[in-house]
Amino acid sequence: MTSMSDMSDTPGTDLPDDPAHEPAHDDGRPRPKREGLAGEYYAWLGQGELRFQRCGGCATWRHLPRPICPHCHSLEWSWERSAGRGRVFTWTVTHRALHPYFAEVPYAQVLVQMDEGPRVLSWVVDVEPDDLAFDLPVEVQFAQVGDTTLPVFVRGDR
Ligand SMILES: [Zn+2]
Repeated sequence: MTSMSDMSDTPGTDLPDDPAHEPAHDDGRPRPKREGLAGEYYAWLGQGELRFQRCGGCATWRHLPRPICPHCHSLEWSWERSAGRGRVFTWTVTHRALHPYFAEVPYAQVLVQMDEGPRVLSWVVDVEPDDLAFDLPVEVQFAQVGDTTLPVFVRGDR
């Protein structure tokens, strides 16, 4: 039987008082679940390819992975390779660490508008938060974090 005192793993209870503490090593980083369609998405990333689902009925690209097209409700789709180019749609800057792994602040979580249509939540790794700008062109790169490959972005050349 579980008592209330056993439920101490509430998010945030183990946060450091000092946000400048040493960041955790790779195995301390939270990772996305790689199950089902999301697992397929990350498997493509692991091969160095950013792919999104594209509807077989209306040709609309979509992300996050899901079985049904939100536009035409078709169940037909395929994984199509993105050209990897997009623009900064919006971002938010974290100034206080909310997880021990992400203790190096400030950093920006950036929503990238891909040319094909989907939006991807990621980082622009070569642009400081103060230098981000709406519509800044960016290109995908791939970051290896333990056994997981994540899409990150760098400033584009257009
Ligand atoms: Zn569709």
